[in-house]
Order: sequence, then C-alpha cells, then structure tokens
Amino acid sequence: MDTKAFKRSLQHSENYNRKGFGNQAEVATQLQSEYQSNLIQEIRDRDYILQRGSVTIRLAQAFGFCWGVERAVAIAYETRQHFPTERIWITNEIIHNPSVNQRIQEMEVEFIPVETNQKDFSVVATGDVVILPAFGASVQEMQILHNKGCKIVDTTCPWVSKVWNTVEKHKKVDYTSIIHGKYKHEETVATSSFAGKYLIVLNLQEAEYVAKYILNGGNREEFLAKFAKACSAGFDPDQDLERVGIANQTTMLKGETEQIGKLFEHTMLQKYGPTELNQHFQSFNTICDATQERQDAMLELVQQNLDLMIVIGGFNSSNTTQLQQIAFDRGIPSYHIDTVERIKSGHSIEHRQLNGQLVITENWLPIGEIIVGITSGASTPDKVVEDIIKKIFDLKTGSIV
Ligand code: SF4
Repeated sequence: MDTKAFKRSLQHSENYNRKGFGNQAEVATQLQSEYQSNLIQEIRDRDYILQRGSVTIRLAQAFGFCWGVERAVAIAYETRQHFPTERIWITNEIIHNPSVNQRIQEMEVEFIPVETNQKDFSVVATGDVVILPAFGASVQEMQILHNKGCKIVDTTCPWVSKVWNTVEKHKKVDYTSIIHGKYKHEETVATSSFAGKYLIVLNLQEAEYVAKYILNGGNREEFLAKFAKACSAGFDPDQDLERVGIANQTTMLKGETEQIGKLFEHTMLQKYGPTELNQHFQSFNTICDATQERQDAMLELVQQNLDLMIVIGGFNSSNTTQLQQIAFDRGIPSYHIDTVERIKSGHSIEHRQLNGQLVITENWLPIGEIIVGITSGASTPDKVVEDIIKKIFDLKTGSIV
C-alpha cells in the first residue's frame, strides 16, 4: 500500500477530524475538575518541595500529563459532546492510564473488542465514530475504518506523526528503519505499519548484536529467530542492513536512543568509510520534548538524598517504565504504582517491577524522617499523584492532609 498517499487522501476526507470540534472551552472545566489537583499546584508553587510532619515530598520538576496526552483526552471529551447520541469507539486505550480510560468508558466510548490478539472491527458500523488514541493506530486499521465509512477522530500526538514521517522518508530512499522500541507497543506497531523494511531493537544490547552482524556477518537463522516478531515480512539481514535510518518509539530512554544512533553511525562509518557514510546512514531526532523533559527532571531528582521513589503511571506505560529504570539504576528503592489502591498500608505496597512482574513489598515505608521522591509518567493525571501523596502523609502522620 502507498501509505503516504492513503494518509493524504484520508486527511482530505470529510469523515476525518484531527483538530477537535471547537468546544474546548466547554470541556476544559470538566477536565480540570476531573484531573487537576490543588495540592500538586501548591507543591509546584513551593519549588516542588512539601514537608508535612516527618515526610518531605520532592516532586520532579517535570512530570505527569504531557501536552500530547492532554490534547488527546480533550479531543475525546469534545468528541463525546459533539456526537451525543452516536456510537463511539476507540481502537485502544486513549492513553496508558487506568483512571482516564475508565472515565472514557463511563462516557460510553467503547473499546474495539479483541479476539485471540486480533481486533474485531465487525462491530463497527458505517456512520459510527471511531477515536484513534494518542499513540496512533496502524495504517491498516485506519484503512478498515475509512472503508467502512466511519467518522475517524484522530488524536495521534504530532510527535508520533513526526516519527511516521521519518520512516516514510527511509522508505522513499529504500533505507531500512531501525526502530528503537518495543515491538508489541501500540505506537511501535503503528510506526512500523508506515515503514518499508524495518527492524525493531529493544535496547543497546540488541542494537550491538545487529551492529556486529553488519560488520562481521553471523548466523542468519539465529538472527531471524531473534527478531522474528520484530522485523518486516521477508526481512533479510544480509541484504537489508546495507542502508539504515534510525527512528524510535517516542517514549524510550533518550540516552539509549542516542547511543543506538551513534552505534549505527559508527558501524556504517567503519564499514563504508566517511565519504560513503551518507549513502548508508540517516538519523533524525524523534524523541519527544515531553519524554526528554521528564527523564531529565528524573535524573536531577535522583541526585537528591532520597529514601525512596514512587513512580506513578499505568503498568503498560513505556515512558513511566523508563523513569523507573532511572531510579533503579541509581539504586534507590523505588515503587512503580498506577493508583493509590496499590498502597495497602505502611507495611505493604503492590508494585510493578522492571521485569513486568507485580509484587508485594513489605515494610516499604521507613520509620522516622523520610524524603520521598515522586514522579509520574506522561499519561498520569495530577489527581492520581495527589491521592498518593495524601496517602503517604496519612500513613506517616495519621492525619489526612
Ligand atoms: S509522550 Fe510525547 S509523543 Fe507521547 S503523547 Fe506525550 S508529547 Fe506526544
């Protein structure tokens, strides 16, 4: 499929909207009351520090809802207001946050059902409204919905669209896109659907494996088995790694994406020499500002003398996991939780480890004076952060703030 031509024709269709419906002011009050927090504003005003009793809270200087997420949620609310009686679907979670997704469902926006890992679009009828979430949807999904005559409301973050444009550029000049991301993540699924040839690497270790293959060759079968779910159909490592371009899932660890870019640049330099480099390597910066700011703020926060870190965000939120990784690398006891309900008591907290496992840790809250670092992923409303801070104050001081 000519994905670029399809995208262009979709954008000119009267059934397509990516700007909202002009009722921002009406939904703004609703959004503020549901997701904003006075306590968090107070902490921001106090230079991101708040002390109550034996607890000092240090908030990261950039955390929580990014503008791409705010925009997507606002457009979803506008859509419900604009189409009060129509059936409205969403192809996936609007953002990776359980409380926001629950609110969306309460507004009778339904998820497309999934049967054995496949979305069942047969439930969607002509004239239904379908929202595409902040991290986008695959071009094949867009095509199905367009062919059905649905009204498509596209909340894809412009930063994600920028990555799609990058892989389109690679495709145009017959470069393979090396995408730093998680092959199962909805954003990477969408990005790879716009790419021509592609290979998805999860981390620097996988990138190094590919770089070695480029330089020295290797076991083709092993390569194909290793990336079986993470490359384009018919990918041939002996043919398709001669010209590569870099792209990424916008929420990966910024430093790692940069290292991967440099690694492939050096690899191509070594293999083809400086005069040929531009014929074999293309790099674009596709890390979004919000991800970068949150990671930079976290890197600053972990330099403080913290007793523990609470990292708040959906368990399937990639950018939250990256924040947790930073705390883990510093050796700070840190707990990734999605809602206040994960804090069972001062003795017990249920949290997600970096390996994805949910575990319960006992005696997580130290006695005596403590400094607690707090951050939250780009999909987390301030209200959720407020609930968690209040709970910690409550457990430590015995009084609700
Ligand atoms: S994290 Fe970045 S790419 Fe993702 S929605 Fe927010 S601004 Fe957009």
